[in-house]
Amino acid sequence: MTDIKSMTLAEITDALRGMGEPAFRGKQVFTWLHRGVRSFDEMSNLPKELRAKLSSAYFITTPKVARKQVSKLDGTIKYLWELGDGNCIETVLMSYHHGNTVCISSQVGCRMGCRFCASTIAGRVRDLRPSEMLDQVLFTQLDSGEEISNIVLMGIGEPMDNLDTVLRFLELVNHPDGLNIGMRHISLSTCGVIPGIERLAELGLQLTLSVSLHAPDSATRSRIMPVNNAYDVDDLFDACHRYFEKTGRRISFEYAMIDGVNDSDAQADLLAKKIRGMPGHVNLIPLNDVVESEFKPSRRVAAFQKRLESHGLTATVRRSLGGDIDASCGQLRRKAMEEGGEEA
Ligand code: SAH
Repeated sequence: MTDIKSMTLAEITDALRGMGEPAFRGKQVFTWLHRGVRSFDEMSNLPKELRAKLSSAYFITTPKVARKQVSKLDGTIKYLWELGDGNCIETVLMSYHHGNTVCISSQVGCRMGCRFCASTIAGRVRDLRPSEMLDQVLFTQLDSGEEISNIVLMGIGEPMDNLDTVLRFLELVNHPDGLNIGMRHISLSTCGVIPGIERLAELGLQLTLSVSLHAPDSATRSRIMPVNNAYDVDDLFDACHRYFEKTGRRISFEYAMIDGVNDSDAQADLLAKKIRGMPGHVNLIPLNDVVESEFKPSRRVAAFQKRLESHGLTATVRRSLGGDIDASCGQLRRKAMEEGGEEA
C-alpha cells in the first residue's frame, strides 16, 4: 500500500495514467486529498470502479484527535494527533492580528538533545511522512474551522534532520490546487544543522529561516545544545551570512533566555558583533520552565533586549501564548507519555 497524500500532483497523474485514466483525474484526486477526505469513496466525481482500484493500492492518512486543549487566556488550540501507527505528535494553532498561524511537528520526538527542550527528552522515534506534516495543517483547519494563513515548522523535531520530507511537504502545501500557502507565509526553524541551511540556500526558497541560536559563544552553546559540537556556532554564523548573501532573506535568530547562562551583557555584545553585516532579527523567548530541566527563566530579558538595540539590532520579545495548556515544545506529548497515553 502506498501513501497517496505524500505524492505530488505529477506523480499521482502518472500513476493514474498507468491505470489507463485520463490526465485530468490526477488533479481531481489531488484536490480531494488536499481538502482532507478520509476515504476514496468521498471522491464523488470518480467512477466507482476507479475508487475501488485506488483503495486496493493506496491509503489515505487520517490522524485522530487524541487530545485537544483550548487556552482560556488567548484561544490558542493545542492538538495531540494520533497517527496511523499509534504515535502522537503536537500541533498548535495561534491567532495573531495578521492571521492564523499553525505550528507543526516534523518528527515523532527529536534526537538533537537541546538541554532545555521537552521534545527531545525521549529521543526520536521516527520521521514524519510528507502527508503527516500536511495533515497537521489540513485537519487543524478542518477541526477548528479557522482558515490558516501561516505555517511555522517549530513543533516537535528538527526539520533539517528530515529535510527531504520537509521539502516535499513544502511543495505540497504550496500547490495552487492544494492549500496554496505561499512560501513567504512559512517559517522553518533549525537548531543549526549547517548542511541543511546550505541546501536551503541553494534552493533559494522564499521562506523565512529561523535559527535557534540561544548562545553566541561556543562554550555556552555546547553546554546547552549538543548540536554545537557537530556544527560550531562560528561556522553556523558563516553559513547564515552565506544564506543571506544567496537569498537576500533576513534570518530570525531565536534566543531562549536562561538565567545566568546566556543572558549577560557581554553575550548580547558578542551576539550583535556576530550578526553584524546582515539584517538579522533576534527573537527573545522567555524560557518555558520544563519540569525535567535544570535551567530557569532569565530575569534580564528587557535589559538584554535594550543592549542588543543599543547595537542597532532589532530584537523582539516573543509573546507567550497558551501558557495554561502546555502549548510549548513537546510538553503535551510528554505529559501524555507520562500518563501512559502513548507507548514511547
Ligand atoms: N528543532 C528546530 C525546530 C523546533 S523550534 C529548532 O530547534 O529550531 C522550537 C523552538 O523552541 C526552538 O527555538 C527551541 O530551541 C525552542 N525551545 C525549546 N525548548 C524551549 C523552552 N523550554 N523554552 C523556550 N524555548 C524553547
